[in-house]
Amino acid sequence: MQTELPAALLATKRGQQANRILRNCVHCGFCTATCPTYQLLGDELDGPRGRIYLIKQMLEGETVSQRTQLHLDRCLTCRACESTCPSGVEYGRLVDIGREFIEEKIDRPLTDKIKRLLLRKIIPHPFRLRVLLRLAGLGKPLLPAKLQQKIPSLPASQPWPTQQQSRKILILDTCAQSVIHPQIDAATARVLERFQIQLIRASQSGCCGAVNQHLAASDDARLQMRANIDAWWPYLNEGVEAIVATASGCGVHMKEYHHYFEDDPEYLEKARLISAKVLDISELIEQLPLQR
Ligand code: SF4
Ligand code: SF4
Repeated sequence: MQTELPAALLATKRGQQANRILRNCVHCGFCTATCPTYQLLGDELDGPRGRIYLIKQMLEGETVSQRTQLHLDRCLTCRACESTCPSGVEYGRLVDIGREFIEEKIDRPLTDKIKRLLLRKIIPHPFRLRVLLRLAGLGKPLLPAKLQQKIPSLPASQPWPTQQQSRKILILDTCAQSVIHPQIDAATARVLERFQIQLIRASQSGCCGAVNQHLAASDDARLQMRANIDAWWPYLNEGVEAIVATASGCGVHMKEYHHYFEDDPEYLEKARLISAKVLDISELIEQLPLQR
């Protein structure tokens, strides 16, 4: 695809990234076949190809409106479209840039701002989320049936192996999943113990940053990513083999930490090394000698 981004934008890292990604897209539309929002809404602008075109127009300086914002908001950032793109278009990175850009240009209604702020201030913080869900659980009988179904019950905490092993792997367990489905990480720890691998939790780490990033709060996202890098770095120096994520969205985000520090010489190299150490649980399981 031909692009004509303004020189001022092309002088920035995000402008160069966006330009490179846009130019890889040949507009074939294969990606629409795997896009859930396109399947559901049937509107070209609610599919990846349409969104790519909207982002291109916006970055080239055309007027944008709340409609453009709505089409970008509706994207789930599931990145299923990347799996069917023959040109390797990094749609996830492009939509991140597009969202940051539109957030600077278009204001939102106050109710939207409050909803987004609450999501950012609660979902990535396990303590706050747990308190909120406990309170919601107490008030559940008073709520309409439809709302009641949406409030998950909090499972009891699960046993975590304590035996020391020479092989160690870190886990990102400090996100919403650790509150709603703590059994997943505990089960992972018990499975890995069978292979003499100790799964360890870094107490200083937190949310991977994806929630803030996808809600266009990139400064807050970078703060969380820096905190994680600082928390994990000493473990990597001590020989931890990998960092595993059992929530695939978090793993995908952590694999791309380096993209977010291209302008930050202090963290770029560490971010690259950390990204290279991240494994989705499915990738880790593939590496285990399962014939045992
Ligand atoms: S499949 Fe890839 S190249 Fe084709 S329109 Fe979608 S993003 Fe562009
Ligand atoms: S990330 Fe998911 S929702 Fe967004 S355009 Fe791609 S397939 Fe569609």
